[in-house]
Amino acid sequence: MSQEENNRIKVDVLIIGAGPSGTVAASILKNNGIDVRIVEKEVFPRFVIGESLLPHCMENLKEAGLLDAIEGMNFQKKYGAKFVRNNEVSDFNFSNQFTEGWTYTWQVKRAEFDLALANETQKKGVVIDFNTTVKEVKIHEDGSSEITVIGPDGNNSVIEAKFIVDGSGYGRVLPRLLELEEPSDFPPRTAFFAHLNDRNRPTGVDGNRITIITYSNEVWLWVIPFSDSTTSVGVVGRSELIEKFTGSSAEQYISWLEDVPCLKGRFVKEDILFEPKKIAGYSASVKKLYGKGFVLTGNSTEFLDPVFSSGVTLATESAATAARLITKALKGEEVNWEEDYSAYLKRGVDVFRTFVSTWYDGSLQKIIYTTESNMEMKRQICSVLAGYVWDQKNPFVKQHARAVKALANVLK
Ligand code: FAD
Repeated sequence: MSQEENNRIKVDVLIIGAGPSGTVAASILKNNGIDVRIVEKEVFPRFVIGESLLPHCMENLKEAGLLDAIEGMNFQKKYGAKFVRNNEVSDFNFSNQFTEGWTYTWQVKRAEFDLALANETQKKGVVIDFNTTVKEVKIHEDGSSEITVIGPDGNNSVIEAKFIVDGSGYGRVLPRLLELEEPSDFPPRTAFFAHLNDRNRPTGVDGNRITIITYSNEVWLWVIPFSDSTTSVGVVGRSELIEKFTGSSAEQYISWLEDVPCLKGRFVKEDILFEPKKIAGYSASVKKLYGKGFVLTGNSTEFLDPVFSSGVTLATESAATAARLITKALKGEEVNWEEDYSAYLKRGVDVFRTFVSTWYDGSLQKIIYTTESNMEMKRQICSVLAGYVWDQKNPFVKQHARAVKALANVLK
């Protein structure tokens, strides 16, 4: 018998990846009495970008039984978002939004956040195999599968599962192996970012809330302060526009920060805490979100753009939805994956798609920075910014494209 044959494990649900979508899905499945296991390529803590959460994801963390662990972590609380364009400032406060829901969330270093989620998931009895990479997947006609993984010792083993959840994020394991990848309809953009010490942080609330800075219609920056007095700053835009400065990576990065009037001087003498990273062409899509015996969650499905911090929320919402449907399926109940998974997720993703595309064409920025006050519309937009993109009572959800266009047209 081969070594591989010796190393066979059986499980109901195998989850690929221990990011937020993997741990939320695993925790909900485990809470529902399903036998579930995670394989994770890295050893935690590991770096990943995606540091500003949206209030909607608190519901998913709560359902998964992961919220209390995060509450105990002393992450920087996030009560809203501030947008800055030259001298214009626009503030959104989650306590003043249309949809009833969470009024705060967190700004997190993902290495710490994801580790805390993984630890709590393990406490529920879910096995996470770290340092274990999925290499091959064979899905049989009845939907059951054999997943070949390579473990820390370099040996292959096979996991037999009734169902696979692909929460592999940028690894996009099943989209690659099953040829489901599709290019995004957004142009390639680059994000250039690092963490810095932040001794010149403004005092009071301005010092600790996320700020989105408009540099031009096509280029913007995030400033995400953490509770340990360090801050994440990233610049995002069409790839050719981000290559504006010369020099070493750190020199280019500081040149960017010094070129932004409201950041000038704040970081120039600060330590950059790791070599600034560039991620280019991060937007991605897939042909389908599910198939017999598998479902894609989180970033392995589609990623639009970081501008509205939607990634983790879409990851946890897709994971929670998938976990509920898998539970039903494994109990022998009929599941309408097309309607209850694909169509449902698409409704929310499409709201963000409109917000992202109209951000870059300037029409949403016109709305965000307007001084003409229509408090009700601002509350409705605030709910989208909080991630409540499935509330069909909100006109900026139900008729997102039309609502943004109509409002932008009437503003000067
Ligand atoms: P991940 O968090 O990527 O986790 C996937 C896991 O799968 C990883 O740990 C990986 O090691 C593992 N894996 C991969 N391949 C394999 C394999 N073959 N075998 C086993 N394991 C594997 N989102 C926000 O909410 N807020 C933000 O502010 C934000 N900013 C962003 C900025 C940028 C520049 C970018 C590009 C994205 C940003 N995002 C943001 C999006 C965010 O990064 C993702 O949406 C989020 O991390 C998705 O979570 P996930 O669980 O799907 O995947």
